[in-house]
Parts: sequence; structure tokens; C-alpha cells
Amino acid sequence: MQASQRESGSVLGSWPRIRKRPEDFPVRPHLLDYAATRAAFSWEAARAGLSGLPGGGLNIAFEAVHRHAIGARAHKTALRWIGKDGSRRTLTYAELSQEVLRFASALRALGLKEGARVFLLLGRVPELYIAMLGALSAKYVVSPLFSAFGPEPIATRMRMGEGAVLVTTPELYRRRVASIRGDLPSLEHIVVVARSGETIPGTIGWSELLARGDPRFIVPPTDPEDLALLHFTSGTTGRPKGAMHVHAAVLTHYVTGLYALDLHEDDIFWCTADPGWVTGTSYGVIAPLVHGVTNLVVEAEFDAETWYRILEAEKVSVWYTAPTAIRMMMKLGPEIAKKYDFSHLRFLASVGEPLNPEGVMFGLEAFGRPFHDNWWQTETGGIMIANYAAMDVKPGSMGRPLPGIEAAIVRREPDGSVRVIEEPMVEGELALKKGWPSMFRGYLGEDERYRKCFAGEWYLTGDLAKKDDEGYFWFVGRADDVIKSAGHLIGPFEVESTLMEHPAVAEAAVIGKPDPVAGEMVKAFVVLRPGVMPSEELRRAILAHARTRLGPVVAPKEIDFRDNLPRTRSGKIMRRLLKARELGLPEGDLSTLESDEQASAPLPGVQP
Ligand code: AMP
Repeated sequence: MQASQRESGSVLGSWPRIRKRPEDFPVRPHLLDYAATRAAFSWEAARAGLSGLPGGGLNIAFEAVHRHAIGARAHKTALRWIGKDGSRRTLTYAELSQEVLRFASALRALGLKEGARVFLLLGRVPELYIAMLGALSAKYVVSPLFSAFGPEPIATRMRMGEGAVLVTTPELYRRRVASIRGDLPSLEHIVVVARSGETIPGTIGWSELLARGDPRFIVPPTDPEDLALLHFTSGTTGRPKGAMHVHAAVLTHYVTGLYALDLHEDDIFWCTADPGWVTGTSYGVIAPLVHGVTNLVVEAEFDAETWYRILEAEKVSVWYTAPTAIRMMMKLGPEIAKKYDFSHLRFLASVGEPLNPEGVMFGLEAFGRPFHDNWWQTETGGIMIANYAAMDVKPGSMGRPLPGIEAAIVRREPDGSVRVIEEPMVEGELALKKGWPSMFRGYLGEDERYRKCFAGEWYLTGDLAKKDDEGYFWFVGRADDVIKSAGHLIGPFEVESTLMEHPAVAEAAVIGKPDPVAGEMVKAFVVLRPGVMPSEELRRAILAHARTRLGPVVAPKEIDFRDNLPRTRSGKIMRRLLKARELGLPEGDLSTLESDEQASAPLPGVQP
């Protein structure tokens, strides 16, 4: 790979372009000629890469597992799992299919109603994959929860999604679920994955349930438009949004696995994302299995040297990770990476946040290949814009739209319509022409909110971006004030509501503050109840409360005490102003600001 010729016109564009040459590809990329592949592409034709159910219809789990189990890949490793303690488990496609069908039939035997919601609160253990694919095989709707969530985010999501079944572990049950169980009226069954054989009253043991299942279960007729997955994502206001996805999404997973991740038959694929988030489901479970490759699952959390060792020892060939992890590896420098043999590593991809040009180049330096940034969001269900194996990389750009996807930079007009901006490198909102298979079909119970995401034929992403004269897209930023920490979107409302549960707290507002490792970290501004004196001890107590309720990823890392908060005349807290003041940036338009003379000064004697 050759770095040459600088793009002009922006700071990001000043990085050298990475030219791809045929000798850079150990295997022939699926997408060799971007323009030609795009021109020839149709979703109907791409459907030939899937099997469809024997009686007609389309089911994600059938495409991911069962079709391989009755075909040539039956004895090929589907899942290669490495536990925290170094233990291993491998499941061939045939073995995985048997377990999945057993679980599906056992769930059915519980007598759940059509389309019942099955929530998963598990770390990255094999049972998570079996449960997810089993519930999908039985046509139930799966909602994976991040296992670091505290009781409150779990309860909110399960209430919104009317969860009928929860699959979890004894530890998570005791720490996160037992206290909220009485507040979950729709919850009928809790399945507990207990390795030790321990039983918990009022729950069903995983092994006991599986023993009741029949591996001859037949996947029932599934309409491509049947609801399959429910992914919660945080919004700027109010509760998290439940993005609804259907079985047809598997066609996007297949096509993106082909073109954006360039999956080939012999690949060992590793997606480092947790299935509690959409990346870990679409690409940590579905796409690699649909392609019949070996999917590596690592239970342990990030540690640079452990990851390097795994990449080497497992001979990972395609690796999909995130900017936060890349930045952590960068902190340690490329020298450590150079001790390892990454000769099997063929393609590196990144998603979740903008990938800095330094990150792209770090790939080249440490692994001999650049990271390929790609862009998508919970609502899109799959990768929409990407840097492809055979396409030049412009560091700092998220690449070009996938074949079958039309993306544009648009401006919203006062009459509600949108105008496409044709001029290159002009900032506007990133929009996608609606109709791709994995497009979300709604926000659970919030039709109006869903409708507002569309203008005519366009889906409006809420992200700001630019497009250059070669059709590469450049991320500018999110249009709202949701906080992005370590690859996770955090909505202020949930955090603020939790802070206000503390008896000393009267009001709270949170912002994202730049953090070199996590991208952003949550900072909270808290107004105490009258008569409560601020102290270091109280600050620590509130932080501890937030950690217990929200989990460490979502909880604030810093708290400042304030006398009051800046707000608009209509009563809305102005988070952007808090952020501007915190970072010493221009305060912008203050015309709607209510008087807040004391808001900007921290209380004396209480510095974070
Ligand atoms: P989520 O719905 O949690 O997956 O978050 C989606 C949001 O993450 C997008 O709307 C973007 O704001 C951001 N995002 C994801 N991937 C990228 C990327 N490659 N570059 C810039 N922002 C990204």
C-alpha cells in the first residue's frame, strides 16, 4: 500500500491518500471496481446469496446457521469462543444449529405468544449466541441488553419492550434484576445460565430448559417483514428509542459482509463489539455466520497485549473494531504490536465514531494495513458507507456508500422538504434514500418520532457530513447533544434522572467532555437541594449512586456543583452552553437564555 498525493480543501484532507494496488490483496476482493459494482447492483439480484426458508419466507437464523448445518459447511467451525479464563469452546455449524433449535423449541413450549420479546442480559458467552439465534428461529423478537447496564436502564428497556423472557446469569440476576423484577409486569420467564448448576427460585435453569427442547424443531414460516430485533438507542430527549428491525435485514448483513468486510470462505473473523449494541449483533453474530465463516468470540474486555496475542494465535484474517480501542492501542505505540505476527490479518475495519486519520495510519504502521472506517447507526441496521478493500483510503473519510445505498448531503428547508446539496465539501445533514432491507421499521410505540426521521424519499440521519468530488463522505459531527463514550451513545435524560434520585440532588444536567481514550466522558452539573452543603464526600456518594444504577459506562466521571443551571425561557436546560463554558468555546446564540448569573461559576472549595 502506498501513501501518496494529498487531498486539498480541509485539515482532514491534508493526510496522504492510501493507494491500493493489486499486490496488496492476498485474496481477490469481492468489490474490485466500485463504480461497476454499484452500477450493476440490485437488492433483488443480491438475494441469490441467501437461501430463503424451504417453504418460502426469510428468517435471519435460518440464513445464519441452519442452512449451513444442512449443507457443505455442517462440520466447519461456526463459533470459536475464548472465555475470560482462557477456556475455549468451539461449535460447528451443525452443533450450533442443534443447540439453537433446541432452545427455539423449548421457548415455544413455554407457550409464549407470537412475536413475544426475548431480552438477553449476558456477557459474551456461547449461550448468548444460542439464545439470540434460537429466539429468532422461533420467530420471537430479540432485544440484547449491554451486560454493564444497571437496574434502571434494564427496567426502562424491558418495560418499553414488554419483555416476556429474560435470559441472564445468576450474578447479573442478583445484582441487576432481582430488585426490579416486581416492576416488570410483562416478564413471564427468567432463564438463568448457571455454570455451577446452581438454581435460583423463580427462574428456569438454562440446561433444564434446553433439555426440554427438540433439535428437530422446524423454523416456522417467517415473513421478511416480521419483526426480529429491537435495539435501544439513546435520543436527545426523553426515553431511549427502540429501533425495530425485521428479518429482511439479513440481506443487508449479507451484502455488507460481502463488500464492506470482504468476507471469504476461509476467514477467521473477529468483531470486538458486544452484542448488547447493534454492531455486536449485526456483525458480531449475523453477518459472519450468514457468510459461513468462523466467528471468533472473545469474552474478555479490551487489553492491548491480549488482543495482539489473540490476533496472532487465532490467525484472525478480518478484524472489525472501534476507534476507542484503536486509540488505546495507539497510546501504547506501535512497537508493542510489532512483536507479534499479523501476517494472517487481511482486512481491518472500524466503526462507531469518527476514526481519526492517525488511527487509519496506525493500522498501517502496527499491522501493515490501514483501518477502513465505515459508518452506520442503529436505525440503518447495517453498514451504509464504507472504505472498501480495493478502494483507495483517504484517512479521515468514512468512505463511499455501499452498492444499493444512495447517500446525500441535504439541507432541511423551512417547509419540511429537503434539498440535496450537490456542491462538494459543503456541510449538511447526511441522508439516505429509504428502502434498503435493514432500514428500521419504526421506533417502538413512537410513530411520530419515526415519521419525523423522513422527508419525502429521504431518511435523515441526524449526523452532519460533507461529500467530496469523488463521492467520499466526511463526518462532521452529530446534530444533537447525545454523548458518545467508548463507542456507546448515552442520552443525557437517563443519566440526569438517575442523579436526581439521590436525596441530595435537586437538578442535574450532563454533557460530553472530550476524553483522549473514550472519545467523550460524561460530566454532570448538579444543583443540590436547599440546605444541603456541597462536599467532596457528597460528590463521591452521588458518583457511586450513579455507577450502581447506570453501570460504569453510562455513569458520569465528574460532577460539578452549581447554584443553578442555564436554561431557556421555555424551561429547557441549555446543555450546549454548559459544554461551551466547560471547554472555553464561544457561547453562541444566547437569545433564549434565562438569566443565570451564577451558573458558570463552580461553588467555591469544591473542585473536581
Ligand atoms: P449507534 O446508533 O449507537 O450505532 O450510533 C450511531 C452514530 O454513531 C452515528 O449516527 C454517528 O454519529 C456515529 N458514528 C458511527 N460510525 C461512525 C463513523 N464511522 N464516523 C463518524 N461517526 C460515526
